[in-house]
Amino acid sequence: MIYLDHAATTPLDERVLEAMLPYLKQNFGNASSQYALGRLSANAVISARDTIAELLGCRAEEVYFTSGGTEAGNWALKGACAAANGKHIAVSAIEHPALIESARDMQKFGYEVTFIQPDKDGVITPSAVENALRQDTVFCAVMHANNETGVIQPVEEIGRLLNERGVFYYCDCVQTAGVLPVPAAYCDALGISAHKFYGPVGFGVLYVKKGAKIKRFISGGMQERGLRGGTTNTAAAVGCAKALQLAVASADENNARVSALRDNFVKRALAEIEGAYLNGGGGKLPSHANISFDGCDGENLLFLLDMKGIAVSTGSACSAGAVTPSHVLLSMGLTESRAKSAVRFTFGRNNTEEETEEVLSALKSAVNNIRKVK
Ligand code: PLP
Repeated sequence: MIYLDHAATTPLDERVLEAMLPYLKQNFGNASSQYALGRLSANAVISARDTIAELLGCRAEEVYFTSGGTEAGNWALKGACAAANGKHIAVSAIEHPALIESARDMQKFGYEVTFIQPDKDGVITPSAVENALRQDTVFCAVMHANNETGVIQPVEEIGRLLNERGVFYYCDCVQTAGVLPVPAAYCDALGISAHKFYGPVGFGVLYVKKGAKIKRFISGGMQERGLRGGTTNTAAAVGCAKALQLAVASADENNARVSALRDNFVKRALAEIEGAYLNGGGGKLPSHANISFDGCDGENLLFLLDMKGIAVSTGSACSAGAVTPSHVLLSMGLTESRAKSAVRFTFGRNNTEEETEEVLSALKSAVNNIRKVK
């Protein structure tokens, strides 16, 4: 199988599994228990939190464990709104559904939402953010890099602006953690998810800057300083810390390797397949290539590549039996047919040049076959 969907999830690193195993086997104690077995887990959790804090560039008491990026985004948006007085939320139109749907949830509680539109390259400009702000804006979300296009956003400038205006800024760093340094200094909160950097699925982190006002989202026991109830997933916390450590340590080397593979793939795909267009401009993550193929349906391409053992994705969503094109590509001004013809290829640290060749050849024949039938 050739796996080119690393933005969706990544395989668990063997070294991460090794670090987690003791806490799934003999050291299974509840980290809140008072006896030795519990203390063993509690110590592992403390050490994982310290490691993660250091790698994110923050303090251990600013790190809260969650079940992943979706919970981190929900908690940030709903928790910040609950702690503030205004009734206006600004969310970029290219956010993950974790933020878009959370904002829509709040509309039912009387909040007004502005979806900030990107430019044609898929960038949310600081001036677009500024134009969206109101006197009563309490929360703004602009992600670090988009999951569909890989386009990196000007988060430092946006962070400075929101800080000046006293608006809580959440930065979704799910696609960037372990790839780029995250902008903890410029935002009030950020979210990461372990399964995007070769760690375990179902575990993430919400960083909340000291002093930033946020209410709890999941009520329960006193875990996470009383702000997030639920028995701590010790093995996953250990795995997340280990995975982040490994990813950060090898980021430069991996980014260079992965972007070389991706750049070669994009160059060849655009040159050798007529009517192929790269979506999203400017600075991009090393892994992402989002390409539209005229006269093709992304879903059909995905299916034909899957038949050849190649895993890719489209940004389309399936609802009520109908395929809706990616909200990200549509917001960038792509026509519906161009958006529907898009396929996302995301490279990872284990991909090879030989795989790129194989994918290019499978892609060419899939595109030709679809066009012939049409
Ligand atoms: N935010 C972004 C940008 C993502 O790409 C994803 C997952 O694809 C999420 C949030 C959700 O993360 P999780 O799968 O950990 O809930």
